Amino acid sequence: MSLLEVERINTLYGDSHVLFDVSLHVAENEVVALLGRNGAGKTTTLRSLMGVLKPRSGAIRLNGRPIQGLPPARIARAGMQLVPEERAVFGGLTVEENLRVARLTAEKPWPLDRIWEVFPRLKERRTSRGRTLSGGEQQMLSIARALIRDPSLILLDEPFEGLAPLIVQDLVELTKRLAADGRTIIVVEQNVAAVLSFADRVYGFNNGHVVYEGRAADLRADAAPMRGFMGLA
Ligand code: ATP
Repeated sequence: MSLLEVERINTLYGDSHVLFDVSLHVAENEVVALLGRNGAGKTTTLRSLMGVLKPRSGAIRLNGRPIQGLPPARIARAGMQLVPEERAVFGGLTVEENLRVARLTAEKPWPLDRIWEVFPRLKERRTSRGRTLSGGEQQMLSIARALIRDPSLILLDEPFEGLAPLIVQDLVELTKRLAADGRTIIVVEQNVAAVLSFADRVYGFNNGHVVYEGRAADLRADAAPMRGFMGLA
């Protein structure tokens, strides 16, 4: 059975129809990438899964249970966490305080020590305020705040955006470790090379439609199928 099943969801911003009959399935422990040009509907898809936006129609099931229409807090308790593009870090709180706040409403949060094992750099910075962190450290903290709540499914929205190549490499390794540890991941990224290095499967988006579904290994061997939805020459 799929961990996540999305069946023909349609999402609108007011009168503006953005997602058209989007269907996806994600198996447990899979890493799935959503690719496409700016405005193709990838972020809208993640926000629809998390319940931040309510699809007008269609079905979303997590572990076989319908979750569409539920508030984000309920969906979070069912095991999903969104790491948003804008990085969910409180600038005025320290690293440790940011993590403690994230633990508060979780049912089975990780002890802080487990986070420090995964993110030794955050441990070094535990008394620094969020706003003083580098971009890469903020992204790690944003991921750590999701992870401490022990989600089975993590949605990563452009985790590598604006980060230097070496930091991207660190985050790629981190993502691989999360997958090896049994997490299921959906990642939206513009950095196609980085994302294809660790994804299992890919959905291509264009104008709010899913126009491609395939294995990342096939796209690594031959990028031609991506030309249409990535706008490559
Ligand atoms: P990006 O990489 O730019 O985030 P994306 O594929 O994630 O691209 P979305 O952010 O999902 O695309 O946007 C899909 C469409 O919805 C775009 O046409 C966008 O202009 C529109 N849209 C996004 N957010 C809003 C909003 N808050 N109100 C109205 N329209 C929006």
